[in-house]
Amino acid sequence: MKLVLASHNAGKLKEMQAMLADLPLRIVSAGELGVGDVPETGLTFVENALIKARHTCAATGLPALADDSGLIVDALGGAPGLYSARYAGSPTNDAANNAKLLEALCDVPAERRTARFYAVLVLLRHAEDPQPLICEGSWEGVILREPRGSNGFGYNPLFLDPVHGLTAAEMAPAQKNAISHRALALRQLKQRLSAITP
Ligand code: IMP
Repeated sequence: MKLVLASHNAGKLKEMQAMLADLPLRIVSAGELGVGDVPETGLTFVENALIKARHTCAATGLPALADDSGLIVDALGGAPGLYSARYAGSPTNDAANNAKLLEALCDVPAERRTARFYAVLVLLRHAEDPQPLICEGSWEGVILREPRGSNGFGYNPLFLDPVHGLTAAEMAPAQKNAISHRALALRQLKQRLSAITP
């Protein structure tokens, strides 16, 4: 089966391609096929993923896998949430987003700096598919006062996994890809895909 990955984020594409490599799928990215962005007008992660998957199916005539993800910080009422990519404005700037997050949390004590990365994946077989495959995952952590590590993208350097004592940016890609929100969602998706593909 040929599958189009709807994401345009190079960091996420790399992770998803690595995690799907062992499935009998021919994976191409929406960018390679010339599919443009679509406005993410949903009010939830799953709505935005559906919008992206449907747009990609309609543009390519192929099954599409879209994801939507973000960082949910409890002390900020769930922000940056849906707006994680452009928290500090457009275009996306990881350093500015991290600086804004540190500033927003400067008076928040350690015990209230809890957060999670959340990811949802939506697979549509075609643009009118009434039965999307929907999988989700979340990864619990806390937001540090200073960045640590340089791997990956986004809020990785500020997100500490207390179980491993490492930020997402201190983990090797393979370690992150074994436990992250996206990894959990993808694992679920792989199980469900292997049940429906020969
Ligand atoms: P979108 O899913 O492309 O709308 O953007 C999600 C945004 O959430 C990214 O641009 C990052 O800022 C943040 N994010 C999502 N997953 C991760 C992750 O694994 N590490 C760091 N930041 C992430």
